[in-house]
Parts: sequence; structure tokens; C-alpha cells
Amino acid sequence: MCKYYDICLFIHCKLQGKPELAEEVTKAFCLTDPLGCARYKVADSLGKESVSANLYPSETARAEAEIAAKR
Ligand code: SF4
Repeated sequence: MCKYYDICLFIHCKLQGKPELAEEVTKAFCLTDPLGCARYKVADSLGKESVSANLYPSETARAEAEIAAKR
């Protein structure tokens, strides 16, 4: 399980009212592959406050670009 799950705004806010998508993301990333999540990458590298509200877990290229730009 992702260590950011309890505080993840994407899961608990952005996907509120979208239970199917929330379940899909939880299965694909939070439970099984948090290291592959774009939001996890940014949170771990730059701090959880640096994660863009609209960053989707699958946007790893965007996450890596954001991390590179701030280093
Ligand atoms: S894997 Fe990604 S979407 Fe899931 S809780 Fe962690 S940071 Fe949030």
C-alpha cells in the first residue's frame, strides 16, 4: 500500500464521486505499484506539497519533467 494513501488528495478528493475510477487507480497504483505513480514520484522527490492537484498517477513523464525542472 502506498505510504501516501491516507493523505492522497487525488484519491480522497479528486476522485470523490467517481468510485469506479478510484477503484481502478487504487488497484493499479496504490495497492500494487505506488513507485510507478506520478504523484508518488513527485511527493517523494519534491515533497507532498509540490504535487499538482491535477497530476494523474499515469503521468510519469510529466512528473519526471517537474522533478528535473526543480532540481
Ligand atoms: S499511489 Fe499515487 S494515487 Fe495512490 S495513494 Fe499513492 S500517491 Fe496517491
